[in-house]
Amino acid sequence: MGLFSTVTLYEDPRHRFLHLGWEEQEEEGFVQTNQYLIQDGDEVVLLDPGGAHVFPRVLANVAEVVDLSQVRHIFYSHQDPDVSSGVTLWLPIADRAKVYISGLWTRFLPHFGVYDQRRIVPIPDGGGTLPLASGTRLQFIPSHFLHSTGCFSVFDPVSRILFSGDIGAAVFPPGKRYEEVRDFDAHLPYMEGFHKRYMAGNGVCRKWADLVSSLGVEAIAPQHGAVMKGEQARRFLAWFRELRCGVDVADSFYGASSRPAAR
Ligand code: FE
Repeated sequence: MGLFSTVTLYEDPRHRFLHLGWEEQEEEGFVQTNQYLIQDGDEVVLLDPGGAHVFPRVLANVAEVVDLSQVRHIFYSHQDPDVSSGVTLWLPIADRAKVYISGLWTRFLPHFGVYDQRRIVPIPDGGGTLPLASGTRLQFIPSHFLHSTGCFSVFDPVSRILFSGDIGAAVFPPGKRYEEVRDFDAHLPYMEGFHKRYMAGNGVCRKWADLVSSLGVEAIAPQHGAVMKGEQARRFLAWFRELRCGVDVADSFYGASSRPAAR
């Protein structure tokens, strides 16, 4: 079945990192998404809280675990609709929150109906930190071209969990979803096709994998698919570092167009 309600990935008296639940029913033609929440003292950060389609469920999950007035930061890894199209629904509800997204995409948010630029914080290409009131500093880790041209992961140095956006995403066959990877080899077929087609090329996979490996990450939490902890996360980084994808394998797409179109 694979249904789960909110899972605590890390918790201490001052800080927790939660994986919010899923839709009860799997839906065909609709990519399954994960949303996460970091609570640090009285401050709450939402990570890719998702599109309009999942908004009622995510709102219910968030409201169950924190006071909505504590939501001060909404992070979007990139501009895709499954990540960020719910932004206009969140802004009036989390009315003290700011939105963090790559500076490449801030001019696109008005197309979702966001007109108050004072609530948008563009993340510069080199990344940076999000300082919280307790002194915790979340880190914006560049993940450009993996897959979006302007794209970030978030490293939480307290839990040592990396929110990786689309990197590490998996697409489950119907009826097969699970929230944590236990067997990397069995999980790999659910990740391979997506990464080969969406990620821009091995050069950037390698830079990101090396940067992430240097942080001492304990778990990788992606926006689709399942969380990879410990050895599973290390296996993923080793695989991703060597992946040939995107422009490395694009010949196969262009080869088709040199043949006469079928009539
Ligand atoms: Fe995406």
